[in-house]
Amino acid sequence: MPQKTALKQKGFLSAVFSLISSLGELFCRGAQKAGAFVLGLLRAPVVGLLFLLTRGKDAVLAGVQEAGGGKRGVVRYVCVWMLPVLAAGLLWSVSAGIGARSVGLRVSVGETILGYLRSESEFLQAKNAALEVLGLGTDGDAADALPETAYAVELIGANRFTSAEDICESLLRLSSVPTTQACGIYIDGAFLCAVKNQSDAMAVFGSVLKAEQTNETDAMVSFVQHIAYVQGIYPEAEDVLLDRAQLQTLADNLLKTHLLDLKELKTEIEKELTDFPSVKIPSDALYIGTTRVLSAGRRGSDQVTKLVTYVDGAPTGEEEEVGRLTVIRPVAEQLQVGTRALDASFVSGSSYGGLLIWPAVGADNINSDYAWRWGKLHAALDIGSKVGTSLGKTVVAAAEGTVVISGVHSSYGYYVKIDHGNGMQTLYAHCMAGSLLVNVGDHVDAGTPIAKVGMTGYATGPHLHFEVIINGVRVDPKPYLGI
Ligand SMILES: [Zn+2]
Repeated sequence: MPQKTALKQKGFLSAVFSLISSLGELFCRGAQKAGAFVLGLLRAPVVGLLFLLTRGKDAVLAGVQEAGGGKRGVVRYVCVWMLPVLAAGLLWSVSAGIGARSVGLRVSVGETILGYLRSESEFLQAKNAALEVLGLGTDGDAADALPETAYAVELIGANRFTSAEDICESLLRLSSVPTTQACGIYIDGAFLCAVKNQSDAMAVFGSVLKAEQTNETDAMVSFVQHIAYVQGIYPEAEDVLLDRAQLQTLADNLLKTHLLDLKELKTEIEKELTDFPSVKIPSDALYIGTTRVLSAGRRGSDQVTKLVTYVDGAPTGEEEEVGRLTVIRPVAEQLQVGTRALDASFVSGSSYGGLLIWPAVGADNINSDYAWRWGKLHAALDIGSKVGTSLGKTVVAAAEGTVVISGVHSSYGYYVKIDHGNGMQTLYAHCMAGSLLVNVGDHVDAGTPIAKVGMTGYATGPHLHFEVIINGVRVDPKPYLGI
């Protein structure tokens, strides 16, 4: 009967497997967990039977036949299939048992177990906290005040771990220094002192805040540092356990030495100007790149309520907007924006590829750009020389046109204005006295000499003040010069 022997071997191996697993389970969980173990044993046959059902009728019948047939065959077959499931179930519960616990430290003093911690660093943290409360340093003989502790590595259930605070308290209770139940005061986590009643501690720090509060009724006063009150075991030493009056003196000193700072949140109302929007109206009466203000905009103003943070009376720069009220609405400006393409008829041999040619022969520097200057728009280019002086250099017509002005003006000095048609004009100012070469009505070509560079009128030095006027508006000459 070779099949029967094979089946017996299978069953035997499963039995050994489950026995080892069971021992492992008992080892790990301890005798008190035997109840859970028995429950696991009862669960296994049910899982085994469910597993059998999934195999299908034909496979089961064939298996029973293989096991010798009849009632004995059924029993054998069931046992052989059930045992591996039983073993697997046990193995699972054992590994789950191990998974639920982790390696930790059992901390004890003599025969007394103080608790269980996750790591050595947690124990050191507890010990240092105890030394800090005792007012002793972490090195040297100071540690003698604490009891001799021992710790061992163990597998510890997740719910059995103790906090470092609890171990610290136990160490203090067992220390050689007399201790008592009190309320510890910690500033930003560092131990300050202890008082018998927490209400005393809160009253002292509360009165400090209240004293400040009366100065500014709308300010919210708090401490910059975090003050924590922790009930626990503290030494009865007179420099550690203070009464209310002593704590009051200490608190006043902390404020003076800035170990404790006051933070105030003040509500402040400010006026804030708001920008006006710009409504752009396209216009083909203006060339591209030029604009004209049809109606000026006006800025509005808001009333802004802010929470401003002060530390020890000085603003920290930290502020939060909590409210905004529009007092004056801004008025939008109406802006005409040019859409008309530049007219090719202006082109008459520009040296820089623009519509106009450079108007001062040999003067090669822009002394002052088309830009805001001293609070007003300098709507022209001031052309001078990079090296030496531009005085006496020849001014030429920038394009073909007709002279419309050739004369003198209080700020322009001697100047010429040429009309080029199609809404475009150019102006040449501060020319040398007596240098004007053209008269009103003269026709000029691009490059025709019209004057010499001077410094007449309102000018601080020799230069050509050159304006480009499009439809009566002085525009930036640079694009027309091709620069
Ligand atoms: Zn100028």
